[in-house]
Amino acid sequence: MITVEKALSEIKKHSNLQHKRVQSVPLNEALGAVLADTIYAPIPLPSFRQSAMDGYAIRCHDKKTYKVVGEIKAGDPFEFELNPGEALRIFTGAGVPDSANAIVIQELVDRDHETISAQKAPTMGQHIRKTGEQIKKDDIVFEQGTQLNPPALGILQSLGFTKVKILLPPKVAVIITGNELEKTGKPLQKGKIYESNSLVLKTVLQQMGIINGIVEQVEDDLKATQSAIEKALNQSHLVLISGGISVGDFDFVGQALEQIGVEKLFYKVKQKPGKPLFFGKHKQTLLFALPGNPASTLNCFYVFVYPLLQALMGRSFNGLLRIKYPLADDFENTTDRALFLKAKIQNDVVTPLTGQASSMIKAFAMANALVYIPLSKKKFKKGEKVETLILPHGN
Ligand code: AMP
Ligand code: MG
Repeated sequence: MITVEKALSEIKKHSNLQHKRVQSVPLNEALGAVLADTIYAPIPLPSFRQSAMDGYAIRCHDKKTYKVVGEIKAGDPFEFELNPGEALRIFTGAGVPDSANAIVIQELVDRDHETISAQKAPTMGQHIRKTGEQIKKDDIVFEQGTQLNPPALGILQSLGFTKVKILLPPKVAVIITGNELEKTGKPLQKGKIYESNSLVLKTVLQQMGIINGIVEQVEDDLKATQSAIEKALNQSHLVLISGGISVGDFDFVGQALEQIGVEKLFYKVKQKPGKPLFFGKHKQTLLFALPGNPASTLNCFYVFVYPLLQALMGRSFNGLLRIKYPLADDFENTTDRALFLKAKIQNDVVTPLTGQASSMIKAFAMANALVYIPLSKKKFKKGEKVETLILPHGN
């Protein structure tokens, strides 16, 4: 049995397997994807001097009054030669002619026919967006490995890109084990339960942008388990198995892994929930066997699988964002394992929820965070700060 920290550092060691598969996709299909190449700016942003306000572009002189000699709307060409003391009516986003050196905003101008009078002396360059003030031509826009969010896509589009080269996510296979598991849509026989981990795993993968997951379900049978795992290992970069990794007479995953020759990197983590977690490797494929209790499965996914997938997707092995929050109440860890508690951050304090059993997943649905109680400390006072992992699904 190893600690949470040891388990994470072991996983990290194996997180640099290269799955570099690149694809060029239209920008509107690239949300959440990771850039395969560093992107350089083909044009500056903005690409010409622009007015930042509605008002008048002026060529400064030592008097307050200016003569309006023309008008430029956003989108118009802007080849005007202003003499000192001349002005152009101008609007936000319109090009500023080289001969103009300041914008006075319309609220600070008195206009009488074609003559304007500035209420304040303008300063040179005021309210003019300089060429390249956001991004200069040939500058790095985004480094390789950047995850594309909506504003990043907006910038790429502003620079004129139509497509972008992204890293394809790794292929992930999910194997669900358990004789008791029934598919929904069928009546429940006595002793059976509706299978739910496959949907949870599929959707957390989806949350990370992995939509190509293959899901297979097997009975608690050594041969069937073995052949499903072998097939999954051949088809994917990462295999996730749900259930069957405990020590019961009908838990066949451990035996199957041994027979296939999957290298054990660790088995059992000193944590609650999710103690019987297995991590291994076979050729170039990594494998987690996740304990089948629904809260254990999801906890292990968020704490251990999530950072590995980040790395396999070309991002950093960061895991969920960790922030220290004060506890809403006293807390004591009465177990000899580290704890991950489903919790809610509200009003700047964090409250562990009721229903922490590993068989229960409702608290997970209500939570927006996991409080991490490390092995090093048992008793916590109200207001004491604890490490809190922010759930990507939380609200
Ligand atoms: P196991 O890890 O196979 O010993 O399963 C532990 C507990 O989790 C048992 O109560 C199982 O019925 C339940 N369980 C295992 N797999 C699933 C699943 N895919 N969906 C819902 N519950 C499951
Ligand atoms: Mg089972």
